[in-house]
Parts: sequence; C-alpha cells; structure tokens
Amino acid sequence: MNNIANFDFKNKRTLIRVDFNVPLTEDNKVTDNSRIIAAIPTIKKVISTGGIAILISHLGRPKGKKTSKHSLSNIQKDLEKLLLQPVAFLDDCIGSKVQSFINKQNAGSVIVLENLRFYNEEEIGDISFAKKLANLADVYINDAFGTAHRQHASNSVITQFFKTKFFGLLMQNEIFNLDKAIKNPTKPFTAIIGGAKISGKIEIVLSLIEKVDNLIIGGGMAYTFVKARGGAIGNSIYEKDKLELADRIIQKAKDRGVNIILPTDSVNSSKFGEDGAIQTSDIEKISPNYMGLDIGPKSIQLFKNVIQNSKTIIWNGPMGVFEMDLFSKGTEQIALSVSKATSNGAYSLVGGGDSVSAIKKFNLENNVSYISTGGGAMIEYLEGKKLPAIEAML
Ligand code: AMP
Repeated sequence: MNNIANFDFKNKRTLIRVDFNVPLTEDNKVTDNSRIIAAIPTIKKVISTGGIAILISHLGRPKGKKTSKHSLSNIQKDLEKLLLQPVAFLDDCIGSKVQSFINKQNAGSVIVLENLRFYNEEEIGDISFAKKLANLADVYINDAFGTAHRQHASNSVITQFFKTKFFGLLMQNEIFNLDKAIKNPTKPFTAIIGGAKISGKIEIVLSLIEKVDNLIIGGGMAYTFVKARGGAIGNSIYEKDKLELADRIIQKAKDRGVNIILPTDSVNSSKFGEDGAIQTSDIEKISPNYMGLDIGPKSIQLFKNVIQNSKTIIWNGPMGVFEMDLFSKGTEQIALSVSKATSNGAYSLVGGGDSVSAIKKFNLENNVSYISTGGGAMIEYLEGKKLPAIEAML
C-alpha cells in the first residue's frame, strides 16, 4: 500500500474516515476534543499539499434517526479552532447536493459531512451506501482507529471502490505503537488490567497470559478472583458466573509461569459513595456490609514494585472507583508509577476509555509512551484478532 507521507494530494478530493465520536454536554458542546486533535495531522497533510479534505465520521448511536444531539455540526467550531481555518458542514453525507458542493471546492478546503449513522446502512455495511460515499472522492484515507474492529460501510466495505487508499497518520501511529507492545516487547512485560468487570476482558486477559511476565489485576474485577479463592469480600462487586473462570485464569497463569498479582488489601466503604463509613482491610477479610472501592496501600506498594521492574507496560482499566476522590488513590498511584517507569526507560501503552480519563484526571497524559484512541479496537488488536478495517486496506 502507498504511504500517505509521500503522496501529493493536489486537487484530490480526499475522503477521510475520522473518529469524531466525542462526548458532548447537554447543550451539545464538546467536552473532550482529544479525538478531534488526533485527526488533525492527517487533515493537515491532505490540505497542505492541495487536497480537498472531506471528513466522514459517526457520532454516538443515533440508530438511523436524525437528531441534533448526534449531528456532526456540533464539532464544526472545535475543528475550525484547531485547524485555524473555516470548515464547511453539510447536513447529509451522500447524494447529489453533497456531490455538487464538493465539486465546487478549491484546494485546501475542509468539509465535514453529517453523521454516517443517520443511515442504518453504515453499521450493516451496505455496499450501495459504501459506493455512494466512495463516489464523492478520488482518494480514501482511514484514520479512525476507534472503529477499526467494526465492519462498517465507511471503514471496510468502501475500500474496494478506491485504487488510491491510505492509512492516516493516527492509524499508522496506533498500529506502530500497539505492535511495539505486543509483537516484540522488551521484557519484563507487565499488563495491568482493572475496571469494573472481568466479563468484557476475559479474552484479553487469557491472551495476555500467553505474552506477559506479570499480570496485575486491580479494580472491581479483582474481587471475583478473591472470592474464587475463598476470601470474604463483603458487598464488593463480583461476578458469580465468572468464579470458575477466575480460577482457570489463575491456574493458566501458574502453568505458564506468569506472575499474577492480585491486591492484598482494599479500601472499603459502607456505601457506594464518599459519605459512607470507610475502612481499609485485608482484601480477603472485608466486613459483611462493606464494599471494596479501591486497592489499599500495601497493594499499591506491591504493584509499584512490579511496575518499576518492567520494561514494557500495558494498562487498561482503573484500580478503583477513581471518579470519586476518596477512592482514586490506587489509580493515581499506579498512574504515577507507570509514568516513573516510563521516565526510567520503560515503554508504556495506556488505552481504553476509563484508563485514559484517569491518566488525564491526574495530568499524566504526557508522561506515558502512548495513549491509544481505541477502546474495543485496541483490546481486539492486542488479543491478536484481525481488525476488519485494517484487513480491508491490505
Ligand atoms: P471498565 O469499563 O470495565 O474499565 O470499568 C471502569 C469502571 O470501573 C469505572 O467507572 C470505575 O469506577 C469502576 N470500578 C473500578 N473499581 C471498582 C470497584 N472496586 N467497585 C466498583 N466499580 C469499580
């Protein structure tokens, strides 16, 4: 495949699949523009060499219905601010009006088309919808890593209609960084997995056991492991139907010589909130009416020792209910430890919505090696699955 870096986009109508699926306030203001920022280098590459950038994306889950809450007009101003130039917005993404508007544009213009998911055809991967999108342009770029694990019209089906197609700069960067962590990691290699539940992360945990030296498990999911071992976890979150699986994971880790590290103590509260009675205890001895909401100080130390001795670190999922200040210490300390290991030469990759929000909450986003923009896509890539949007380009 061609490389975007050497291509001259002069007068090329260039369809760029970006990921502008950003969070909005009640009155439709962008609260976190990271995904828009991440798309800027590719857009600039196209317009600075004289191309016409036609941006397509989804926003939220409108399920085929047009609503102002899901309109990509909501991101127009933010994009203009970042690009320092006007951006046109069209209230549709296909059709003759869109086509004639694009055909009248001069080199260097940027146009945002309306939410692809206002058409159900996008998510079902409809071939004629993909063709209508493809008809708008001469060249195609996919720079939406966040949806790369989905086989949709605009990111997978569409590629067959273009001779000239590229991965965008963000996509290249994601693939490069994920490969760095997973294909040839410098050892010791440590994965830190947290978050509320094991259920969404079973496959990643099982596949990481094949690759890592250390597997640190924190957050709500740790209590299922503790319960499986016979510990008393009080009212802590756990998944009854995953107890056996937790046992299997521990056994598999042992069989493969992987060091699996669970928290040893827990910060517990009498209610899910900051106004309950709080106590720290051995994680296997939580009082009946208390729930564990963060890892305790001994666990923080235990995890830090492993992290400081690691050369490659992957982190997905918080260590506790970090959104509440009283239970954010475990996540903050682990974030600081990952940052410190990084400044000492380790390679660190952080991904998945909540770990990214956590690292930002503690202002450490510049202290890790790479923050992936993909949640599900990152996890599936790390599991070794083939992502449809990447395969479609090869
Ligand atoms: P996930 O989407 O699975 O990564 O889970 C992230 C969520 O897990 C965050 O909103 C955390 O507040 C929550 N979480 C982490 N630790 C716990 C815990 N011990 N009990 C309940 N929820 C937790």
